[in-house]
Amino acid sequence: MSHQPVVATKTSGDMDKPLISRHLVDSNSSLAEAPSEVPKAGILGSGDFARSLATRLLGSGFSVVVGSRNPKRTAWLFPSAAHVTFQAEAVSSPEVIFVAVFREHYSSLCGLSDQLAGKILVDVSNPTEQEHLGHRESNAEYLASLFPNCTVVKAFNVISAWTLLSGPRDGNRQVPICSDQPEAKRAVSEMVHAMGFTPVDMGTLASAREVEAMPLRLLPGWKVPTLLALGLFICFYAYNFIRDVLQPYMQEGKNKFYKLPVSVVNTTLPCVAYVLLSLVYLPGVLAAALQLRRGTKYHRFPDWLDHWLQHRKQIGLLSFFCAALHALYSFCLPLRRSHRYELVNLATEQVLANKSHLWDEEEVWRMEIYLSLGVLALGTLSLLAVTSLPSIANSLNWREFSFVQSTLGFVALVLSTLHTLTYGWTRAFKERHYKFYLPPTFTLTLLVPCVVILAKGLFLLPCFSRRLAKIRRGWEKDGAVKFTLPADHTLVEKTSLV
Ligand code: NAP
Repeated sequence: MSHQPVVATKTSGDMDKPLISRHLVDSNSSLAEAPSEVPKAGILGSGDFARSLATRLLGSGFSVVVGSRNPKRTAWLFPSAAHVTFQAEAVSSPEVIFVAVFREHYSSLCGLSDQLAGKILVDVSNPTEQEHLGHRESNAEYLASLFPNCTVVKAFNVISAWTLLSGPRDGNRQVPICSDQPEAKRAVSEMVHAMGFTPVDMGTLASAREVEAMPLRLLPGWKVPTLLALGLFICFYAYNFIRDVLQPYMQEGKNKFYKLPVSVVNTTLPCVAYVLLSLVYLPGVLAAALQLRRGTKYHRFPDWLDHWLQHRKQIGLLSFFCAALHALYSFCLPLRRSHRYELVNLATEQVLANKSHLWDEEEVWRMEIYLSLGVLALGTLSLLAVTSLPSIANSLNWREFSFVQSTLGFVALVLSTLHTLTYGWTRAFKERHYKFYLPPTFTLTLLVPCVVILAKGLFLLPCFSRRLAKIRRGWEKDGAVKFTLPADHTLVEKTSLV
């Protein structure tokens, strides 16, 4: 189908690079038979995925033949270097054929059984959630049952047509692969590599169901942390609403409902961020306490603690998100009309009371320190969030990663605590701040973080830290594993887990 001279490239780079070699084009400018050394790939189907796959394969140095029920209608949609023809002709020469059609149309390909015998069929399909639940066997296993003389390999289903086109650097790089035939798996893995992706061996075709379930997942690992953050937000918002809006309305007749969209949200967000941050470090403290009590690290933690430990990253990122929103809202506070009116009213009151100089030294210092600690806490939290990105985390060794996540994370918690304390200052000790007898919100938020900080401090005492270090090196209270800790036990701490 090609009529333009194009130049070969084996790289998986930009798609605007020339695609296949000049010697593929004969003197009449029509596509000549590809020389035997150019690997050939077949594609059944001419839809979105087939088009992206053909473009990527051509850009990676393969020659491509596409099988369509109606090649005349679809050929113009493909790069000119791809050979678009009828299905039967397309599957005759390539050894590897990508089946880019939906499961319900697999049976319409059965007429090609003879030509396909002995070839590798790559199943790229993705079931919908309903299909996944409705069928007991995976699409790949179903395809294998229709074509018993072929070897079916499951691959590429997690890669979208868009990622195939734009290149792996803009999307997911990993391509899980499974098949009952190691040789076929190896051949497809090599193609995956050549196309710039990373093959991940998922074993036999029995894993295809698991591989097909991958694109159906919606943010696994985020459900519980998100619900936790939402729950905390609702509780703190309701509490702040009662104190800041309902109490003035009911007891003083003041209408402060205008505070609902910005002010109450902005008092709620830091509470959520702060408590979430402490919940990142609380399970570590509980785990250490359990190990100390049991005198061993070889007993499993309870399931709830295990799950909690595994979700710390998500909880930390949600804490950062709330803290960042709090910073943004705080910047917007002076922009509100209500704030301007309050300022003007205060100035008028000053003039009427004949006061010329309004300056409260203690308040000035409190605000300066409070703001500075808040910025420092947010900065440290940002560092934690950035280092949790896989690309950055992968560039750190274990010690660097644990220093940032554990030590700097704890510093962020201490800074946030100081930020909260300077915000509260002496309010906790003044009766007028107990609206409806409810303590100021910041006193509630301090509870968990203070427990975490005190427990961490406690575990630093030599009697606990030495025992913990021994336990994490395999020592057991009642077991056979007993030894004396090296003199420099700090080294042990630096390499220990949890
Ligand atoms: P599509 O645009 O609807 O293309 C499907 C193609 O199947 C049609 O163009 C058609 O080509 C061919 N086909 C063969 N026999 C057919 C029949 N009996 N009835 C109807 N069509 C038939 O779908 P797609 O988005 O390319 O997806 C194709 C496969 O790739 C699906 O299994 C999908 O799950 C998988 N996938 C897609 C993506 C994506 O991002 N789109 C990502 C991962 C996996 P002819 O008319 O030329 O024969």
